[in-house]
Amino acid sequence: MANNLLLWILGPSLLLAAAVFLLRATSQRFRRRTAVLARALRGMAAGDFAPPEPALFHGDLGDVARALAEASAGLSTTFQRLTSERDFSAAVLTSMTEGVAVVDGRERILFANHAFAEAVGVADECRGLPLLEVVRHSSLIEAVRSALASAEMVRAEVEFGTVRPRTFAFTAAPVTADAAGGGVSGAVLVLHDVTEIRRLERVRRDFVANVSHELRTPLTTIQGFAETLLGGALDDPKARRKFLEIIRDHAARLGRLTDDLLKLSAIEGGSMTFRMEPVHVSQLIGHCVEAVSLKAEARGLEIIQDSAADTLPQVRGDSLRLEEVLKNLLENAIQYTPSPGSIRITAALDGENAVLCVEDTGIGIPSTDQQRIFERFYRVDVARSREAGGTGLGLAIAKHIVEAHEGRLWVESELGKGSRFYVALPLWHAEPEPAAQPAAPRSAA
Ligand code: ADP
Repeated sequence: MANNLLLWILGPSLLLAAAVFLLRATSQRFRRRTAVLARALRGMAAGDFAPPEPALFHGDLGDVARALAEASAGLSTTFQRLTSERDFSAAVLTSMTEGVAVVDGRERILFANHAFAEAVGVADECRGLPLLEVVRHSSLIEAVRSALASAEMVRAEVEFGTVRPRTFAFTAAPVTADAAGGGVSGAVLVLHDVTEIRRLERVRRDFVANVSHELRTPLTTIQGFAETLLGGALDDPKARRKFLEIIRDHAARLGRLTDDLLKLSAIEGGSMTFRMEPVHVSQLIGHCVEAVSLKAEARGLEIIQDSAADTLPQVRGDSLRLEEVLKNLLENAIQYTPSPGSIRITAALDGENAVLCVEDTGIGIPSTDQQRIFERFYRVDVARSREAGGTGLGLAIAKHIVEAHEGRLWVESELGKGSRFYVALPLWHAEPEPAAQPAAPRSAA
């Protein structure tokens, strides 16, 4: 009886205690698992897409954990794809030769590639800096401001650097916040280096002006004397002969000029062909000296040939073109050496090259002009060159021809003492050669 009573009193209490214990244990386990899920969610937010351990979860929580694992896998894939797309875009922008910078609406640089930093002359990392601090050029700043204000693309040109100035064409394009064309949130600046294009345009303009000028002088002379003859000088036999000789000389000058221009255009356009063959240096020198010896004699100049050329190995070249080069150097030497004087032509071996030298005891070339005389139409003394019938193109053509032979043409000179023109030509190697090959197109000098 007493036992039954005890059971009646203690039974419910024990059951209640057991239920409380079970409830607490279950809720603690539940809390631990939800904490695991919460940690996984926080990890995802921070970029860690490791899914929660599935074995820990059953029932409803198991469903939540599986959904979380699926979401995590999906997000991880999307995240990786976006990361690699971003890295790829960054790599493309970084390796671009055009300078690219992106600024926000407050003109702060959000991105700038290496080419941009180099163009404006700042250290690579200018991200976060105000554009005004990085770029001092008002035209560029104004273009960005205008693009931000008007939402329209602005194009212009700017020059950077003082020692070696470079010209850049740039565009400042507005960036709109959304595809629907909302407000302007920033601008993209793209700089394109056009220094070389502008230089070539200038060269072409100067060339056209030079050609026109060179053609104009003999044409005016021819026209003038023809009119004088027609105006009555035809009846004066002495004047008639003199005027006709002048007309003939200027017509010949026009002929030389057009020949040289065509030659220059052929070699620069790559249409001049070179018949490469083994060439004996001594023969080459012999032919050229023979061709100019009368002229030298007439001017009271001595030409001295070096016998060392006889023992030199053959060079690789087009003999006619090389003769043209050497004759031009000899004719210049004759032209610019007063009598009495001498012209010495020598040849020596220098490694894999034969180096020919035309040395004169003439007027020499000022050091400031020594590099420029290889440019088209450049003359130290224009009047003297014209008077001698020079076109101012001889050395430009000679340099192109030598370079087409993979050789080098240069000058050493002292004013009042004389000049030495050197031509280095590669030796002939008995490798099979194509019979004729066009010269590669050359850039304008
Ligand atoms: P040009 O028809 O005027 O001779 P080139 O191209 O052959 O044209 O030469 C360019 C200029 O280089 C000449 O006008 C002359 O001023 C200078 N020059 C060339 N060779 C000599 C030389 N041997 N001595 C002095 N000046 C020279």
